[in-house]
Amino acid sequence: MSLELKCVERGLKMTEQRRVIARVLSQSDDHPDVELLYQRASAIDPKVSIATVYRTVRLFEEAGIIEKHDFGDGRARYEEAGEDHHDHLIDLRSGTVIEFTNEAIEKLQEDIANKLGYKLVDHRLELYCVPLDSAKK
Ligand SMILES: [Zn+2]
Repeated sequence: MSLELKCVERGLKMTEQRRVIARVLSQSDDHPDVELLYQRASAIDPKVSIATVYRTVRLFEEAGIIEKHDFGDGRARYEEAGEDHHDHLIDLRSGTVIEFTNEAIEKLQEDIANKLGYKLVDHRLELYCVPLDSAKK
């Protein structure tokens, strides 16, 4: 289902600008921050202001349509809340964010929760890394 459709399904009133921002979000797979979303949205519709982008991402986040991440650099980044779960590796040198999934880690987390008497419903895992080559220096 498209992000736009999810908005409609959750009863959000979709203005033209919200549509543009929703489309930009669903086309971005690089975890953009508000600044970058604003650049992309205003390239499509110059009437979009940064204040509108701020308001809209907050609205989408509250509706559970997008997820907010903090990858340690103090900037909030966003991505579509997906059905496909993944974790993130953050390259501290370049800021590159790599998505990954690992069966063993998923299982381990469930086991830990179970052992503590809980059923795991969600988790977040972020690996903060430097490239192996530069770590040696
Ligand atoms: Zn991601």
